[in-house]
Amino acid sequence: MENTQPFSITGENVAPGTARDVAFQITTMATGMASSLAVRVLHGARPGPVVFVSAAIHGDEIIGTAIIQRLAQELKPEALAGTLLLVPVANIFGFLNRSRYLPDRRDLNRSFPGSAGGSLAGQMANIFYREVVERSALGIDIHSAAIHRYNLPQIRIAAGNSQLVELAMAFGAPVIIESPLRDGSLRDLAHKRGVDMLLLEAGEALRFDRLSVETGVAGVGRVLAHLGMIEADDGLTNVGIPARANRSAWVRAPRGGVAHFSRESGAPVRKGDLLGCVTGLFGEDAQDMVSPVDGIIIGHATLPVVHQGDALFHIAEIPHPERVGARIESITAAILASEPEGAAEVLLDEDEVV
Ligand SMILES: [Zn+2]
Repeated sequence: MENTQPFSITGENVAPGTARDVAFQITTMATGMASSLAVRVLHGARPGPVVFVSAAIHGDEIIGTAIIQRLAQELKPEALAGTLLLVPVANIFGFLNRSRYLPDRRDLNRSFPGSAGGSLAGQMANIFYREVVERSALGIDIHSAAIHRYNLPQIRIAAGNSQLVELAMAFGAPVIIESPLRDGSLRDLAHKRGVDMLLLEAGEALRFDRLSVETGVAGVGRVLAHLGMIEADDGLTNVGIPARANRSAWVRAPRGGVAHFSRESGAPVRKGDLLGCVTGLFGEDAQDMVSPVDGIIIGHATLPVVHQGDALFHIAEIPHPERVGARIESITAAILASEPEGAAEVLLDEDEVV
């Protein structure tokens, strides 16, 4: 079936089977210069749902920017059913300042729905919500861990929504976490207004890593294929079953000092397994850290200089963690074992998206 309707956005009509970059004026800055939110619209040649993919709502969490760059290069509107809205940097001010926050020190992801006459954060949230989220049936919002922390690629969804579980399974990240929604967050608002949302957490703030980027590009492709928006290559559906968790535990530094980590994200652990230790400046008085649960490490600190109480490991409670750990290891090995060009070849089995 042909798509005959143009996609209307910011006063422009995007013809079926074409792509267009549009910019929403947000506000003027202290210099008097205008600032705007950039969105690429891929309007498919065939009809279908509207889906958005956004990154850097926390301005230093740029892993999704790399994922969206790849999607923008690889996806073709003439081969697409439906409409894809790509937002590589939602929090442009935080991105410029390499900061999670906005210049008014607010957190954009606690500022939804915001308002046109509100604070800088409120204005940004409002434009993003009205122009991107409200037009969409599904959103995929991409975050990373905070600075000096790393997250194993994982999908977070609202609890108790079977459609979201299905989409999260289609995404095929190693782990799915069903977690409560935070007040004022994009996911909270979308949930209340009936827009389905997947949140990908992957990698470290201000860094790109191949496992996160490849997982993100392949996962978005699999979700689009699941929705019938792109051709489902045989390999695209060929992913293992992600582990699911709805409880997690943090392990904190038992003392201030220098941390030595013996496990990292992706590793399966049993209750009581040694994770590392924290010592004094001369290596004395080491205090061990052990896992309080059976599970998979889904996040770890990367900075060894720690205060007492710093959160150093995040562990999802998962039964039979070794089984899941083996799958995560094989995905990681496939990505990291080959040369960059070769890796793309290997991964095409799973991430052929056009
Ligand atoms: Zn974030």
